[in-house]
Amino acid sequence: MSLVVDHDAFQTLVRTLHEIPEPDSASEWPSAQMDLLAEAGGLRWNIPRAFGGQDVDAVEMLEIYRELAAGSLLTTFILTQRNAACQRIETSANRALAARLLPALCSGELFATVGISHLTTSRQHVQSPVVLVTEVPEDRGYRLNGLIPWATGAAQADILVSGGTLNDGSQLLAAIPMNRDGVVVDKPLSLMGLSSSQTSAVELKDVLVSYEEILHGPVDRVMSAGSGGGAGSPGTSAVAIGTAQGTLKMFAEEVDQRPELAEFLTPLEHEATELIYQLRLAATGTSGPAVCSAEVIRQRANSMVLRSAQAWLAATKGAGFLAGHPAERAVRESMFFLVWSCPQPVLEANLRELACVIN
Ligand SMILES: Cc1cc2nc3c(=O)[nH]c(=O)nc-3n(C[C@H](O)[C@H](O)[C@H](O)COP(=O)(O)OP(=O)(O)OC[C@H]3O[C@@H](n4cnc5c(N)ncnc54)[C@H](O)[C@@H]3O)c2cc1C
Repeated sequence: MSLVVDHDAFQTLVRTLHEIPEPDSASEWPSAQMDLLAEAGGLRWNIPRAFGGQDVDAVEMLEIYRELAAGSLLTTFILTQRNAACQRIETSANRALAARLLPALCSGELFATVGISHLTTSRQHVQSPVVLVTEVPEDRGYRLNGLIPWATGAAQADILVSGGTLNDGSQLLAAIPMNRDGVVVDKPLSLMGLSSSQTSAVELKDVLVSYEEILHGPVDRVMSAGSGGGAGSPGTSAVAIGTAQGTLKMFAEEVDQRPELAEFLTPLEHEATELIYQLRLAATGTSGPAVCSAEVIRQRANSMVLRSAQAWLAATKGAGFLAGHPAERAVRESMFFLVWSCPQPVLEANLRELACVIN
């Protein structure tokens, strides 16, 4: 698979993540999984060499997300949120802050996450800013007030990459230290799946962020500024496809015992192969009539991950419906893709499919 990451060590990580028991409640952070990831160099993959990282390119990173998700969606999802934070730091014009934070993020001394959905896919129907930012020149910075609705691993994080909107409509992103006065992490949410990601809302009560802690902006639509996979990016599709592949692998083990089920597994496996092909075309910037857009890939990946999990559940029958069976967990976790980082067109396409209004 890889140009930079050690293939054997990576495959061992994926296998081990698949085999070890994984927590499934909001009270338990997957420490063992995160330690394994760090030991395998996972915290270095997406960080430039100048800061101690491995500088894995975007194409290879997609393969990593896909294969890792087949071993553990939970671990991969947490990594995507942490990597999104690192990416916003790396693409910042504030080089002094990048030079201070990235080496410590790379070594695992610091852990970061993102709380940016209120600037992309969450609370978009709300008129007033969810997080209001006010400049206070006398304090050489900005005060932030409001509620960040979603931040994965917030209780574990040292740095939260988040932001808000100023009165003139411009927006900024900052690297907010979690121990700053006024930052309150709510209790991790109990979710349909992935509760152990310890996803929380974070309250900002008159939090002072200095000019030196600003990463991007103030600027119009700060999430469009700089690079770094936005909502529905190929990275999110890679995680969905990999999760489906992990499910299909377990479905295949059932088929080994009951070959009459093969006719239901085979088309899903072919679909996964086609989607991987499309993902690679998108990642390498290939264009042409047969190449799907990032949105279409995400929409199809969502559809496939849902159908794969439900097909496996149907095959496992009532036994698979028991709490704790991997098939019931796969169904619950597959639902995550309907709500995570879905731009409006993807959401609508999935709704159309669920309502059987297929164009
Ligand atoms: C497990 C999990 C982890 C996540 N982790 C992160 C993270 O680490 N960082 C991050 O930035 N984001 C994260 N997200 C956020 C995610 O990417 C989406 O932004 C989020 O799921 C969108 O859902 P929402 O309920 O906030 O959407 P909203 O659009 O805010 O919807 C909330 C409710 O508002 C109502 N509503 C919606 N639209 C309208 C309308 N037009 N008119 C009237 N009412 C309306 C509906 O009743 C809806 O249920 C996470 C999400 C999940 C589920």
